[in-house]
Amino acid sequence: MKLYSTNNTSASVSFKEAVFNSMPQDKGLYMPVSIPRLSEEFISNLDKYTLPEIAFEVAKSLLGDSIPEADLKVLINDAINFEAPIVKLEEDVYVLELFHGPSLAFKDFGARFMSRVMSYFLEVGEKQLDVLVATSGDTGGAVALGFLGVPNTRVTILYPKGKVSGVQEQQLTTNGQNIRALEIDGTFDDCQALVKQAFTDAELNEKYRLTSANSINIARLVPQTFYYFNTYAQLLKQNKNKVVFSVPSGNFGNIGAGLLAWKMGLPVEQFIAATNANDTVPAFLKTGVYEPKPSIATISNAMDVGNPSNWVRIADLFKGDKDELKKLIVGYSYNDQETAEALEQVFNTNGYVVCPHTAIAWKALKEWQAANEDVASGVFLSTAHPCKFPDVIPAEIAAKIVIPESVKELEGKEKQAVEMSNRFEDFKAYLLNNI
Ligand SMILES: *Cc1c(COP(=O)(O)O)cnc(C)c1O
Repeated sequence: MKLYSTNNTSASVSFKEAVFNSMPQDKGLYMPVSIPRLSEEFISNLDKYTLPEIAFEVAKSLLGDSIPEADLKVLINDAINFEAPIVKLEEDVYVLELFHGPSLAFKDFGARFMSRVMSYFLEVGEKQLDVLVATSGDTGGAVALGFLGVPNTRVTILYPKGKVSGVQEQQLTTNGQNIRALEIDGTFDDCQALVKQAFTDAELNEKYRLTSANSINIARLVPQTFYYFNTYAQLLKQNKNKVVFSVPSGNFGNIGAGLLAWKMGLPVEQFIAATNANDTVPAFLKTGVYEPKPSIATISNAMDVGNPSNWVRIADLFKGDKDELKKLIVGYSYNDQETAEALEQVFNTNGYVVCPHTAIAWKALKEWQAANEDVASGVFLSTAHPCKFPDVIPAEIAAKIVIPESVKELEGKEKQAVEMSNRFEDFKAYLLNNI
């Protein structure tokens, strides 16, 4: 697999280089030079394959000879070791549950795959990889649990004190081993600024091999295509072959992976980009003007992104064909009140508890279906387990959440976090003094 930068399509780097650099020097994003099309035979027989088998076939055709097949198979079976089932809520309305991984959010797909790819590419005798990650909640947990125990890697997570939920904090701070958590007296933006500054600090880069694990890394995008194919496989088993995906979107990595799957030949009638008040993309789809904005805080805070980084990838997939883009993707955005109402409606009509991000995708799907007669199976993506966001779910609904065993186990574990100011000197001193 060769990749170019969205800012310089003539350059080309290897998959390994793209994974370790995360972002090209020119600040574009890496995209595959060629996107393979899977055979129609494979697509129409998807129902004969399991999720890891689908993942292997898709990864193999994308990555080419970047990782030999036998190694890739081992890697996939290790990374994709949990389910992504669809659950039927009513006729033509399915929820794709992406929260069966260790951190109970879809980011487990990206983080588990990326950690194993990085570890695989680290050659014998190479310097330990130091992953720095700022999180507003979900990314840190997925990255921590994705890298936990992965040889020759160490993760340092920075999270804003008092601004992540109880379950999220437990997932970040109870790991030990190669995972360290820093509780920053500041905001998520402060955490991100500290990480960014560390990457440009000569002394730190001299001493450590620093890398980032953020959502723009191509190794996080690739595994997110797997569950789109796997959803189609599950629909085929029910004799359905038309699908509409509604994706709760923030940085647009998740829906970007769906579009990559489509480009690889997955038949999809419609993608719905569902956002909260951070409506940069829905506004663009309506007006044709792309206008990034500062982010607005909402109750679906994992989607509080005013300038979605992965949008350039989506634009790149549709180079020169804006009309096709606008046909395939429709946008909906909802404010907090609408989100809260949607969450209650899903519960009242289906007895099913969703997190606020997922509620937005459900509402967008219902609205799209009301306006479009076309019969296709509607699938909305559930990006996180509702138990991660109890504070924004009404108590009587929250009481109905079935708490996963993994969360119950966290309760007895001791919190290990280092409290720290939001000053770079403190962060740097910590890194230098804790080898
Ligand atoms: C990260 C996240 C999102 C947004 O996904 P993007 O790929 O950034 O669009 C949505 N929901 C939850 C629960 C998340 O953690």
